[in-house]
Amino acid sequence: MKKVLIAGCGIAGLTCGTYLLNKGYSVEIYDKNDYAGGFLTVSEKDGMIIDTCLHWMTGTKEGTRLNKIWKTNGALDNAKIIDPVSFFDVTYEGKTLRFYRDIDLLSEELHKYSDNDDKEIDRLIDTIKTIGIMETPSDIPYELGKPLDLNADVKVLMKTVYYINKSLEELANRFNSEIIKFALLNFPVNRKFSAYYFVMTLSNYINGNASLPVGCSKGVRDRMVERFLSLGGKIHLNSNVSKIIIDNNVAKGLVVDGNEIYGDYIVSSLDVHYTFNKLLDNKYSSSPYDEMDKDPVKYPPYSYVVVSFKTKYDFKDSISMTHKVDEYEFFGKKYNDISFRQYGYDKTLTNGDYKVVEVLMTTYLDEYNYLKNLSKDEYLKLIDDMSKFFKEKLEGIYHEEFIPIDFLSPIKLEAANNSYKGNFMCYVLTKKVPSYVRSFLVEGLSNFVLANQWLVLPGGTPVAATNGKLASQLVLYLDGQDFHID
Ligand SMILES: Cc1cc2nc3c(=O)[nH]c(=O)nc-3n(C[C@H](O)[C@H](O)[C@H](O)COP(=O)(O)OP(=O)(O)OC[C@H]3O[C@@H](n4cnc5c(N)ncnc54)[C@H](O)[C@@H]3O)c2cc1C
Repeated sequence: MKKVLIAGCGIAGLTCGTYLLNKGYSVEIYDKNDYAGGFLTVSEKDGMIIDTCLHWMTGTKEGTRLNKIWKTNGALDNAKIIDPVSFFDVTYEGKTLRFYRDIDLLSEELHKYSDNDDKEIDRLIDTIKTIGIMETPSDIPYELGKPLDLNADVKVLMKTVYYINKSLEELANRFNSEIIKFALLNFPVNRKFSAYYFVMTLSNYINGNASLPVGCSKGVRDRMVERFLSLGGKIHLNSNVSKIIIDNNVAKGLVVDGNEIYGDYIVSSLDVHYTFNKLLDNKYSSSPYDEMDKDPVKYPPYSYVVVSFKTKYDFKDSISMTHKVDEYEFFGKKYNDISFRQYGYDKTLTNGDYKVVEVLMTTYLDEYNYLKNLSKDEYLKLIDDMSKFFKEKLEGIYHEEFIPIDFLSPIKLEAANNSYKGNFMCYVLTKKVPSYVRSFLVEGLSNFVLANQWLVLPGGTPVAATNGKLASQLVLYLDGQDFHID
């Protein structure tokens, strides 16, 4: 039985491992942390699960290609799915606009707030109805097959061009209605992203393909780990990989905590920056990422600061919310919104009446550098200041107690995952670069495959899972086996 060693036990590593176990390989995964899941960030406090990753999960719709991958790796196998009534609720000067799952209700809601915006609203609704669910190609590795899904419907392409060519921010500014504009600027898709991503996300949600599995990240992580272990895979936690062992340009093994471990094929599911720069010691100059990193305007890194609270407030069926507030400042930047999610909808994450509420602030390179340059005392003071500030804001809105319980920043994510600038997905998917696919193979290096979200823009859980599957197919190919997997 041939042995595959995988560095990293995130979604991509676990998915790749499970597909290879299904094909009869022996698979061992090594992860530096004392938990599996990587960016499926889960922590526990006061009897509650703090889930900082899954805001929605693309691939919840039965019968889609991605759903099949989530079932194979165990993530959505026998998982109960919650379909929120509204994707996002925005409150602006006393009025609330809801992004309903029901497309007719959504249309009615947008028209209710329209200020001569009917043409834009009708276009949006019509586009969502036309595109339905658009899936990322996942049948054959990009290296071995067609890179683009040439079956893409021309009608769909025609409708989406309008959105590909503008950022969500630009789309928002086409609306006269202040509340719709504010809603789009604060929609839980980065405002610098191509507006196409916003339309696609909304369309997935409306079509039942971006819902929430019970147990959220913890459920997804636990089910994937269980599937991998049940097939005979081995996971080594607290195992830091520092190097790929290479002999004559053939990958032979991993250096784990100073020990050399050998296998037939080596997969790295770590952040590609870390793989190229550390594990491969910059010896393979084919890294396209260094070039992209030199142009942060075209390829902007981004992340989150998340300030978590517990509260007994009953949000009813609202899950993701933004309120307009008076202007305030953090990291030298001005904001006029408070955006947050509540997790009371899933009783596996709550403790009695207490549920977690997470205030989310998108950060870019400036904020990352700001945070990176803080001393420990300054950082702790910032946590305190932000916790007090948002506590007061939330209590002002809901007249209920909000108790700070956690703080997450790009600095923490960077340290936990060795991720570039604390990014939790790839670069911002801008209108200038609405997609890219990078090679899963490293030129000049045999028996080695990359499996990580950074290989395909914009990353995220669907890309990580898909890339894990495609990486397993490349291992089959390198081993001279039939690499076709449904
Ligand atoms: C706050 C937040 C919000 C998010 N929101 C969403 C969302 O709404 N929708 C969505 O789709 N995605 C979201 N994501 C992103 C999603 O979680 C990631 O895209 C996905 O989990 C990446 O998986 P991966 O396997 O490619 O990489 P990773 O999860 O980074 O896996 C890499 C693994 O390598 C390990 N590792 C690193 N260095 C070493 C080393 N030297 N030795 C051994 N092991 C090492 C890490 O511990 C990690 O387990 C969010 C993430 C965060 C943190």
